[in-house]
Amino acid sequence: MKRLGLGRFGERNAKPDMTSGSEVPRLGLNDGHSIPQLGLGMWQTGDGKAPEIVGAAIGAGYRLIDTATNYGNEAGVGRALEGSVVPRNHLFVTTKLWNDSHGYDQTLRAFDASARELRLNVIDLYLIHWPCPQRGLYVDTWRAFIELRKQGRVRSIGVSNFTADHLKRIIGDTGVVPALNQVELHPGFQQRALRETHERYNIATEAWSPLGQGKILIHPTLRAIADRHGRTPAQVVLRWHIESGFVAIPRSVAPAHIAENIDVFTFALTRQDHDAISALDSATGRIGPDPAGFGRRRSFPRRVTGRLWRIMASSPRR
Ligand code: NAD
Repeated sequence: MKRLGLGRFGERNAKPDMTSGSEVPRLGLNDGHSIPQLGLGMWQTGDGKAPEIVGAAIGAGYRLIDTATNYGNEAGVGRALEGSVVPRNHLFVTTKLWNDSHGYDQTLRAFDASARELRLNVIDLYLIHWPCPQRGLYVDTWRAFIELRKQGRVRSIGVSNFTADHLKRIIGDTGVVPALNQVELHPGFQQRALRETHERYNIATEAWSPLGQGKILIHPTLRAIADRHGRTPAQVVLRWHIESGFVAIPRSVAPAHIAENIDVFTFALTRQDHDAISALDSATGRIGPDPAGFGRRRSFPRRVTGRLWRIMASSPRR
């Protein structure tokens, strides 16, 4: 299959990945490392199912796995990585510090627990999951992240759900710029203002809920573009993320969707397609919580949320 050159519209510095047997290009980060531009999201994937799902994804060419302490499946991801035929140095693992572990010492302890669950000595990317501004601890937490990177336990450090103000605060107080900010981003909520701040500081943009949790895929504009290219709406949206220079981490537990979502490197969108998708942006398009207030209240401990996700993931309605 001919692999097209990367996007003509918003590409940053993505480069084809010639060594890992994957078609997914890698995006350079501001710390000299690089990240695959497409990965598998692991939210609401039960720990028991994780090895099978991660195995299917790696078989399909995925090299980036996005988990979090809060997803309750770090151990399952760890088992999958241990059994993988793809060498560890070709895989990229992200995990995230949960809201109940903010603070310098708590962060160091939480990291140890995550690394143990994942059975990894070094984690490729560690993110502060939410800033939880009302707790006022995200700068201390960021200092612990800097220490973990200094110790060589993490290659890249970043944040998630940080607003421009949160970013400026940690950069101003520590002088260390996060490699990446993982935020809600899909055609219905395009985060233009925040992306300008990312550009200014050379912070990579990673899109969570890149498919708008599946809801946006029935939009007639996306269907029409998909029909013109002989593709699915999901592939059009993921191609839009790639050509816009984002990292996208779509979630699926269905092998057919897992394969479909990575098959986006043999077609390209037109300028008109980009203009039409740009027009879908909406100030009210946010699906998830607003970071300004999220994490205000004490959250359930991870063992409870992990169990809840497992119950939800195994529910026959899903
Ligand atoms: P998503 O946009 O990836 O959508 C997932 C939904 O789309 C699922 O219902 C899935 O079955 C469906 N889907 C997947 N592929 C499809 C296809 N080809 N055709 C039709 N439907 C398809 O939503 P998400 O899970 O919310 O986000 C992806 C990942 O982002 C998560 O798994 C997680 O890793 C990460 N995330 C991070 C945060 C954060 O706060 N940092 C928050 C939410 C999600």
